[in-house]
Amino acid sequence: MAKVKIKIVQCPYCNSTQFTTAFQSGYATVTGVERPLSGMKLYHKICLSCGSVVRSYVLDPEKLLKRKNRKYVTD
Ligand SMILES: [Zn+2]
Repeated sequence: MAKVKIKIVQCPYCNSTQFTTAFQSGYATVTGVERPLSGMKLYHKICLSCGSVVRSYVLDPEKLLKRKNRKYVTD
């Protein structure tokens, strides 16, 4: 999980404060260049008012790295 807290309180496009979270999976996974067989869900924070994706992220970014290059996460 991320070590920093990111807080988005207002949509930069329409100034709405209502958001929901959705994710892409299946063919839309994110794959680390160091780990071609890894596949992670890509999450999006989406404005409920205008539908803009205000942030996209993965839950465990270090899992995209080779194990020896990780600082926080092991699996
Ligand atoms: Zn918006």
